[in-house]
This record gives sequence, C-alpha cells and structure tokens, in this order.
Amino acid sequence: SSTASPSQDAGTDTSSNTAVRDEIRNVVIIAHVDHGKTTLVDCLLRQSGQYRDAELKGERILDSNDIEKERGITILSKNIAVHYRGVKINLIDTPGHADFGGEVERVVQMADGALVLVDAAEGPMPQTRFVLEKALQAGVKPIVVVNKVDRPDGRPPEALDEALELLADLGGEEQLDSAAYVFASAKEGYATDDPAKPTEDMRPLLDLLVDHLPGPTVDTKSDFQMMVTTLDWSEYVGRIAVGRVNAGTIQTGQAVDVHTIDSSGNPIVRKIKASGLYVFDKLGRVPAESAGAGDLIALEGLDDVEIGDTITAPETGKALPRLKVDEPTLEMV
Ligand code: GDP
Repeated sequence: SSTASPSQDAGTDTSSNTAVRDEIRNVVIIAHVDHGKTTLVDCLLRQSGQYRDAELKGERILDSNDIEKERGITILSKNIAVHYRGVKINLIDTPGHADFGGEVERVVQMADGALVLVDAAEGPMPQTRFVLEKALQAGVKPIVVVNKVDRPDGRPPEALDEALELLADLGGEEQLDSAAYVFASAKEGYATDDPAKPTEDMRPLLDLLVDHLPGPTVDTKSDFQMMVTTLDWSEYVGRIAVGRVNAGTIQTGQAVDVHTIDSSGNPIVRKIKASGLYVFDKLGRVPAESAGAGDLIALEGLDDVEIGDTITAPETGKALPRLKVDEPTLEMV
C-alpha cells in the first residue's frame, strides 16, 4: 500500500491555500481509434519497468472494459501510471468512439495535461478535434505526439502542422505559442525531436511530460473533497467511485458524507464509510492507506453513488456543483 499527500515544502506558498504537487502529472490521452494509444501506453509501461508479462498475456491494457460496458454502468476509464524521474505520471484514457453522457467533459476534469496522439499518415481526425476541444475548455495543457513516424506513407511534418492548426483553431494563438510536440513510433518504441532520427526509447516524450506539463494545483487548507467523475464496478463490492481528490486527505475506512440528489433532484447527504481506498498505479488500482489532493483515487463501499456526487469529510464538507450529464452525442457515434 502507499501513502500520498501534498508535500509541505515543494511549491507551497504559505500565504495562500494552494500548492503544486510537482511529483504528479495527471494526463489524458486523446487519440482517434487506431492512431496507436494502446501501443504507446504498452510501450511506456514496458520501458518504465512496470510491465508484468503474466498480467498482460494476450490482453491489451486499454481494451479490457467490455464487462463494464455490458453492465451498463459506464464506459470505464482505464487509469494507469508510469514513474519517471521521480514523477508519477497518471495516464487517463478518454473514450475512443462516442461521448456517452458527457463522459469526455468529466474525464478531462481529472487532468492538467493531454497527450494528443496523431497518426503521421492520417493526421488529426474528427474525434481528436471533439475531445481536444473539451480538454482545452477545461484548461488542460496539450502535448502533440505525432505517432507512426516509421510508416512508409507517413508525412510527419504535415501531420504536425495539421495538429498545430487544430490547436490554434480551437484555442487561439496562445495555444500555438505554448504548443509542445514530439514525434514517435510507439511500435518501434521511441520518441524523437526529428522524425528522420530515431532514438533509443521514449525518453524525449517522458521528459516533455515532466518538464512541459504542470503538476496538480491543490487546496492545502480544506478538508477532504472529491467529485465522482467515473464509476467502476466489481462483482464483490459493486460500484466504485473514481475521481480526483480536490482538497484534503482521506484514509482508508474513513467515514464520509456523500452529497447526492434524491429522485426529485433535491440535494441530500448520505453518511457512509468508504470501505476501500485505491490509487492508480502501474496497470490499475492498488490499495492505499491514504490519499491526498491531486491524486486520482477509487473508493469502494459507497453503494448507490452516482457520477456527479461529491464525497467529503463528515460534517464539514460542501458539495461541488453537479456535473451536467448530457444525452449521448449522437453525431459522434
Ligand atoms: P488504438 O486504437 O489507438 O489503441 O491503436 P493501437 O495501439 O491498437 O494501434 C492500431 C494499429 O496501429 C495497430 O496495428 C498497431 O500495431 C499500429 N501502430 C501503433 N503504433 C504504431 C507505430 O508507431 N507505427 C506503425 N507503423 N504502426 C503502429
């Protein structure tokens, strides 16, 4: 098990109530289907020494959510983490096909940065645009990764230009000015500043993730507060609430208030014990004794918890504004 809480020194401004956790990066991956998200994540896991053969035999990490789909709870966001230069990089998946019930909006709220993965032959596709727009609206900082530079029909400089144009189109000149990018072949396992010059590994991309993206800014003074952004499901414990800790810390087994709404939409508070606490690491959830603001966590034991509920410390906690949960965006299906 592991313990995490905002460091008291790094980035802490004692005159304010916020601090930056520089040892964490929360990053969403935005990619059109087939542009190489699964291959890239496999590669990052392997190279950062987290790859465990037994667990992955014949199975691709980001594709194992069919059970959850069948249960009709939600499309599960598979969160994993890699460690590099003392930083824990949480990689958060975004839906590949359709935006079911505003899921994209919710998922991007967990992140400060985005990997915008673009196929060097195809360039950005409509789904890239849709998810990127939501991410930029949420204030997420992008890194463009032009993947598949090994493709004989690849055109890395043009694909990069198209991705940068898209950034400028969606986010204006300021996005263009601060844009960071790297070329990669997830299949061959390297990233590079120059598509004509392969390197040994993914370090140019990992360096960019650590150096260009910010750590989460967290509230250091308030009690525990977290919004439920996605639901996971287990046969043994039922619904599992997933989200990013907004403020404070939580211990495993702690009593919490669940701020939800009743069937008429009126706010109510349920008092309950969060029986299991997990952070995301390597290939999935790992038990934790405590977690702090900026961490992505999963909480078990909250029964009928809903997306948009706020989980807080007992008595003192306040509900965050509920996330709007839209109807599915049909044009994206
Ligand atoms: P996802 O749908 O975004 O998860 O894409 P996948 O990782 O499943 O990749 C889709 C296809 O593209 C697979 O056949 C991969 O082998 C291939 N692919 C992924 N990365 C690269 C790359 O860097 N170069 C080439 N040539 N093919 C790649």
